[in-house]
Amino acid sequence: MIELAARLKVARRILDLETKLKQLALFDQLTGAYNRGYLDRQLTKEIQRSGRYGHPLSVVMCDIDHFKVVNDRYGHQAGDLVLKEFVTLVNRTIRFENDWVARYGGEEFVIVLPETAPAGCLIVAERIRKIIADSPVMIPGGSITVTVSFGAITVENTSRIEEMSMDAILGKADECMYRAKQTGRNRVVAVQF
Ligand code: GH3
Ligand code: MG
Ligand code: MG
Repeated sequence: MIELAARLKVARRILDLETKLKQLALFDQLTGAYNRGYLDRQLTKEIQRSGRYGHPLSVVMCDIDHFKVVNDRYGHQAGDLVLKEFVTLVNRTIRFENDWVARYGGEEFVIVLPETAPAGCLIVAERIRKIIADSPVMIPGGSITVTVSFGAITVENTSRIEEMSMDAILGKADECMYRAKQTGRNRVVAVQF
C-alpha cells in the first residue's frame, strides 16, 4: 500500500513536470502571453493558411512608449506589472477563439488577427490603444499610465502571401510602429498589401 502511494506520488510529479514543460514551451512566464517560439511557429502556419484559403491576415506590432522611464522612475517591478496589465487588457479586447498575442521581446508584443481585413484591424488596434491610455496600472503606493505605439499590417493580396516571409511581415509592422513613434507615439500606423 505504501509502495503504491509512493508510485502514485512519482507519477503525479511527472505529470506536473509535463504540464510545466508544455507551459514553458508556449507561454512567456512573466506575462502569460505566448512566447517568441510560439509566435514563430504559429505565425508561419497562419501565413500558410491565409494563402491557402485566400483570407486576409493582420499583424500588429506593439511597443510600450518610454518604458525605460517607467523602470527608471518606478522600478523594474512596477515595469513588470505594466507588462502584465498590457497583456491582460489585450486578451480582454481581442476575440479569444481566433486572435492571439505573443511577447516579441522586452516591452514589445505582436497581436495576430487571422481573417481580419484592414478596417477591422484598425478598429482593434485603436480600441487597444485607447484602453491602455485610459487604464492606470496599480503599483504599490499608486498608479501609472502608459501609452503604446502600434504598427499594423494587413495582407489582403493573399495570392502572394506565401512569398512574404514571416520576417518580412513583422519587418513591415515594425516599420509602421517606428513611424508611430516618430510621429508622436500613442498612435496606430497601418499599411496593407
Ligand atoms: P520608446 O518610446 O522609444 O519605445 O522608448 P522605450 O524607453 O520604451 O524604449 P527602449 O527600447 O529604450 O527601452 C525598453 C526598456 O524595456 C528597456 C528595458 O530595461 C525594459 N525592459 C525589457 N524587458 C523588461 C522586463 O521584462 N521587465 C521590465 N520591467 N523592463 C523590461
Ligand atoms: Mg522597444
Ligand atoms: Mg518602448
